[in-house]
Amino acid sequence: LEINLVPMYHSEEEWAGIVIVLHDISAIRRLERMRSEFVANVSHELKTPIAAVKGFAETLLAGAVKDEETANSFLQIIYDESDRLNRLIVDILELSKIESKRIPLYFSPIHMDMFVRKTVEVMRTEAAKKQVKIDMQVDETVYLEADEDRLRQILINLLANGISYTPEGGKVTVLVEPADPTPEGDYEHVRIIIEDTGIGIPKKDLPRIFERFYRVDKARSRSSGGTGLGLSIVKHLVELHRGTIRVESGLGVGSKFIIELPVIH
Ligand code: ADP
Repeated sequence: LEINLVPMYHSEEEWAGIVIVLHDISAIRRLERMRSEFVANVSHELKTPIAAVKGFAETLLAGAVKDEETANSFLQIIYDESDRLNRLIVDILELSKIESKRIPLYFSPIHMDMFVRKTVEVMRTEAAKKQVKIDMQVDETVYLEADEDRLRQILINLLANGISYTPEGGKVTVLVEPADPTPEGDYEHVRIIIEDTGIGIPKKDLPRIFERFYRVDKARSRSSGGTGLGLSIVKHLVELHRGTIRVESGLGVGSKFIIELPVIH
């Protein structure tokens, strides 16, 4: 709380009173703190791959380049870490744009059955590499008013996670159904569920996985190419559509991400 006292006068001699201004600055402080935490996180995340690139380049320059096998493996690391840096920067810029609401949404009616089919096609190769099956259970009658590109981004992020955190032979299922029927025979929401038979998320981590850069297992996320920003981006995009997202998960059983988006009539 910030308190300002302002003396007031009718004239030079005549004292009128004091105006007390109470200003609740906790919201501003909180925002400031969030911003500086974000900057600190970003710096930390960028430093790791940069340190790797620099370290391996130095070792190469110091003579390791003469041994072909070492040189190749170090160059591969440098390449991978640069690639990772690039992904991080793309995701950070994307998140910052979305968070400051600098992205316009272009709404159009989407036939969910067709939309899910097309989007799943994009992920098939990725899934096949890991022998993970993708199943679809989409109600053919469901239409949704949404920004198609953003909705695709949401689905692709969740599918990519499902594939990446599911061991070989597992399955990812996309389910779409109408939710909250109205007396007129309509429905208020469309529910989209992305479910996997993967490693699951420990109970204690569940409340935090939508936070930026939060990862249950840093090493695993890194090796699968994750930036720790995917779920924060997804959550923001869902909220820009005035929807909600939640997660249910059992360790070793699998995870289930449940999105509900309002149908605009
Ligand atoms: P990442 O780039 O690390 O995948 P995300 O923001 O997409 O970042 O996810 C945050 C963390 O949540 C991941 O590091 C992982 O630990 C956990 N997670 C996300 N999706 C799943 C899933 N389908 N199964 C198990 N863990 C998951």
